[in-house]
Amino acid sequence: MSKAIQAIRGMNDCLPSETKVWQMVEDTLRRVAGNYGFAEIRMPIVESTALFKRSIGEVTDIVEKEMYTFDDRNGDSLTLRPEGTASCVRAGNQHGLLYNQEQRLWYMGPMFRHERPQKGRYRQFHQFGIEAFGIATPDIDAEIIMLSARLWKELGIAEHVTLELNSLGSNEERAAYRDALVEYLTKREDKLDEDSKRRMHSNPLRVLDSKNPDVQAALADAPKLSDYFGEETQAHFAQLTAYLDNAGIKYELNERLVRGLDYYNRTVFEWVTSSLGAQGTVCAGGRYDGLVEQLGGKGTPGVGFALGIERLVLMLTSLEKLNNIRPQVEAYVIALGEGADLTAMQLAEQWRDEVSGIRIQNHCGGGNMKKQMKRADKSGAHIALILGEDEIANGQVTVKYLRGQHEQQQIDLAQVAGLLASIM
Ligand code: ATP
Ligand code: MG
Repeated sequence: MSKAIQAIRGMNDCLPSETKVWQMVEDTLRRVAGNYGFAEIRMPIVESTALFKRSIGEVTDIVEKEMYTFDDRNGDSLTLRPEGTASCVRAGNQHGLLYNQEQRLWYMGPMFRHERPQKGRYRQFHQFGIEAFGIATPDIDAEIIMLSARLWKELGIAEHVTLELNSLGSNEERAAYRDALVEYLTKREDKLDEDSKRRMHSNPLRVLDSKNPDVQAALADAPKLSDYFGEETQAHFAQLTAYLDNAGIKYELNERLVRGLDYYNRTVFEWVTSSLGAQGTVCAGGRYDGLVEQLGGKGTPGVGFALGIERLVLMLTSLEKLNNIRPQVEAYVIALGEGADLTAMQLAEQWRDEVSGIRIQNHCGGGNMKKQMKRADKSGAHIALILGEDEIANGQVTVKYLRGQHEQQQIDLAQVAGLLASIM
């Protein structure tokens, strides 16, 4: 026998037992995005490498070490998208959706990053993202945070996530702060690790969210970004927090929250959980007012977030929040005796016609009552509809309840559609 080929490390199959959870999550994401008037956009999975270098930034983990980049047969450098915002802005610019307009968009799909695979961190993973263009005021920042909060509520995990919030100020404010921070870091260079020393010159703000406790200790008296904020940034942030307070959304101010992508300004936020171990960030986002222009469009403000669907699925599973997942089918049809399979197949079709949306699995492959009942049980159906020779002769069906304590009963064929409708 030849050796079986395996999937690529960090790129997972999603098996039927898991797709139920995924579909429930995806349905919730779509529905809640719709609740806030957001429309879906779908972008290609492969883009020009330049798009991500220009938007995410050359000196970021993603661009430095995580992208799947390759030359295609024409010699063009292409990259499997590591995130969605850059593609979304590219598409918006290309099709004239952004300048002087307002767009509220969402997307969902696979992203690719060459990271070390571990729980909650994969090389192909899936994001759901929200992007709002054309609105500079913080009401829209609040609106998308409220949208995310509603997601947690609907998924039943609201008590397990907390919101961290910060402002990164304007480009000018950050530039002034950057000088002060570099000066501070230069005096403590001996206390920094190699990564931070390198970042100190290329991207000093990233040093702030170093996970190294020694680096964090060295940052104890570092200058604060918020001390460099002018009136406009202060007012923007104060208004955002007022909207959140008014909506009853709790947050923790975290001055060290800087995000790993270069395009953010002003609002940044993350939803974090303690129930996932090291991979604690479920959802992250912020404002990116300069990005549209940076990618060749005319200046248009933007704000958005992305969440990791694998991390949500892991959370729901480990917290056992899976009650609202429907079984694969409502009813399972069993046929016993000569010619009963013909009638069963015909009736199953008739019931699918009569009860819109009903999910009926018809037993195929024959076998005795025991074998067919075993399959019926395994299907997850609420009821088995049994058609034997007697039932068929009398124009009836035997209903066996597979969940709960109901007595088995015989009903007329004419009553089946009503019964099916009642168990959907
Ligand atoms: P992290 O700090 O965990 O690496 P990040 O800052 O790189 O996250 P973003 O680029 O902001 O993540 O992506 C938004 C969300 O996408 C994350 O909060 C997370 O839920 C999810 N995510 C990011 N990278 C991965 C990955 N490799 N595997 C699974 N989910 C991921
Ligand atoms: Mg990362």
